[in-house]
Amino acid sequence: MKVVCQKNQCNGCMACVDICPRKAITVIDSIEYFNAQIDISRCINCGLCYDVCPNRSMPDLISPLKWYQGWTMSDKNRKISSSGGIASELIEHFIKKGGYVCSCVFEKGEFIFKITNKLEERGQFSGSKYVKSNPKGIYPNILNLLKNNKKVLFIGLPCQSAGLVNFISDQLQENLYRVDLICHGTPSQKILKLYLEQIKYKIETISDLTFRVKGSFGLIVDKKRKLAAQDAYTIAFLDGLDYTRNCYNCLFAQKKRVSDITIGDSWGTEFRSELHKGVSLILCQTEKGELLLKDTNLCLRNVDVDRAVANNHQLMHPSIRTQKVDLFFHYLKSGMSVRKTILLIEPKRILKQCVKKIFIELGIIREKDG
Ligand SMILES: Cc1cc2nc3c(=O)[nH]c(=O)nc-3n(C[C@H](O)[C@H](O)[C@H](O)COP(=O)(O)OP(=O)(O)OC[C@H]3O[C@@H](n4cnc5c(N)ncnc54)[C@H](O)[C@@H]3O)c2cc1C
Ligand code: SF4
Ligand code: SF4
Ligand code: SF4
Repeated sequence: MKVVCQKNQCNGCMACVDICPRKAITVIDSIEYFNAQIDISRCINCGLCYDVCPNRSMPDLISPLKWYQGWTMSDKNRKISSSGGIASELIEHFIKKGGYVCSCVFEKGEFIFKITNKLEERGQFSGSKYVKSNPKGIYPNILNLLKNNKKVLFIGLPCQSAGLVNFISDQLQENLYRVDLICHGTPSQKILKLYLEQIKYKIETISDLTFRVKGSFGLIVDKKRKLAAQDAYTIAFLDGLDYTRNCYNCLFAQKKRVSDITIGDSWGTEFRSELHKGVSLILCQTEKGELLLKDTNLCLRNVDVDRAVANNHQLMHPSIRTQKVDLFFHYLKSGMSVRKTILLIEPKRILKQCVKKIFIELGIIREKDG
């Protein structure tokens, strides 16, 4: 099998698929790793896929000019967001100024990307989706908008932002604003689908999936039913057991960043009384990013950088691939359910969550106390 980048190290950014003039590339998702496979009978050796691939042509990373923590001043945007609502506020502001926004949405059972300049469509983007989203198809669409002198705001994972910057020629980058999320890794969408099936949900029939409400993590289906205090899928994600192989060698898990702006959670914040509403960490790498932040309805505060980094290991190194990861995929591939797999690997975590659920249901503790 001929592949675009190193075997089993593809991040699934899909930039090579979108750039190939011969439609010769298919990204194969084996759950444990992705590979971008080249159909050699179609390939004309133009080399475009190698140039666009972040694993082969790593874009320049930039040290932040400024570090902030903060939140949006709009209660509405903050409420619908996972953290301090920085992304939602940037999206609203950008559209109001006449620009286009491209980010991740959940639609018909898949986590894909959409582009819009319609204010009424902005809500579809809000919230963290703890899966490997699929940006296939967005790169040429963003390129077309930029060629037509439109401004575009892209919000996505660092590896996707890297694919995008490689896709767009330098002359067209002025109107492109890129925001990446601090990211500790993403599982294949197949794991989520499998998990939901095993607990009797068909992902295609779900219209809304929430992964967290501020500091409280756990799947909520159609805004109604939280599956457990913390379900097996969420435990696997938070404990770093189920990411695709490349994420454990992530090139972007460091303080130097690939985008204009980086956003995450300000876990170590001294604004403890604001935490239940969400406090974001914001890194700004470029003057363009700084102008955008300052023009938007945000409350920006200074942050202790050492403390922020100490509370976010993804700013120092990738997630560590422990033996539990091998066990997770071994059990999963042998046909074991996600729940049983997690029960075997993390029995204490499951037990704690079961006890927590009972206590919450009995009203002895509140959700966020756990
Ligand atoms: C997989 C993943 C891992 C993360 N790991 C960390 C971490 O370790 N530390 C940390 O501080 N923060 C992490 N974050 C970021 C954090 O969860 C929030 O998404 C971030 O702080 C933005 O919050 P917000 O309130 O400003 O965003 P919101 O206003 O809620 O908007 C979120 C934005 O991110 C986009 N988005 C959400 N999920 C995805 C996805 N899977 N792919 C592409 N775009 C997406 C949405 O479309 C939207 O534009 C992670 C996010 C994801 C998706
Ligand atoms: S070298 Fe060119 S034609 Fe061949 S797979 Fe890559 S982009 Fe496609
Ligand atoms: S461009 Fe993206 S999808 Fe293609 S091989 Fe490289 S990392 Fe994988
Ligand atoms: S950990 Fe790195 S490679 Fe994996 S999804 Fe996040 S940014 Fe991409």
